[in-house]
Amino acid sequence: MAKNNENKLPKEFVTICPKCGSINVETDFSNPLNWAYGMPPNYQCNECGYAGKFFPQIDKDKVKEFQSELRKEELKKNQKALAIWAAQCAEHVLPYFEKKYPKDKRPRNAIKACRTWIRTGIFKMRDIRKASLDSHGAARKAVDLSARFAARAAGQAVATAHVPEHAFGASYYALKVVSTNPSDAGVKIGKELDWQSKHLPKNLRKSWKEWQSRRLPKNLRALMKKKA
Ligand SMILES: [Zn+2]
Repeated sequence: MAKNNENKLPKEFVTICPKCGSINVETDFSNPLNWAYGMPPNYQCNECGYAGKFFPQIDKDKVKEFQSELRKEELKKNQKALAIWAAQCAEHVLPYFEKKYPKDKRPRNAIKACRTWIRTGIFKMRDIRKASLDSHGAARKAVDLSARFAARAAGQAVATAHVPEHAFGASYYALKVVSTNPSDAGVKIGKELDWQSKHLPKNLRKSWKEWQSRRLPKNLRALMKKKA
């Protein structure tokens, strides 16, 4: 039996913070009771400060998966707050669409459908899907780039009722709306970012930044850094 296992590397386990998924965790053995009675030690997360006895030990290869599950749970718990914010982000840039296409109410209706869901909590897949697709349809027909991205932002906002991460998509397209003119894109993105950040509840900002680092295209991130 020992022979067969000889070539296999033993699995490496790490202690992980159940709140934030960091593996920057300290073990505190200082309590003499732990020694005397064989009680589990206390752990403390150096990332978020959370302390407790129940920190899971997981296979090192599963850390990414664990973190991504935590993220999803966190976003699901905050889905309504995210939808409120996504609707605000989309509404903030809606004038870019409506100035060009005043008769086309599809993006406005998508934001409205998002808020109906926030208010009632009643999720009807068909309605949400239709409102989102309609707004993306409006985007496809829009020749003006800023108007097109504004309609996309509204389409993403309403989709937050289905998948919370779409809120970040709404913010992303709203940033694209103000970035179409290279001469002032940096400044405008900076302003829009500040505005979005102010409206997003503090506890969600870390997830937003994390999403940006994974999903935002390089050119947009470069412009964000240039902000005045
Ligand atoms: Zn932590």
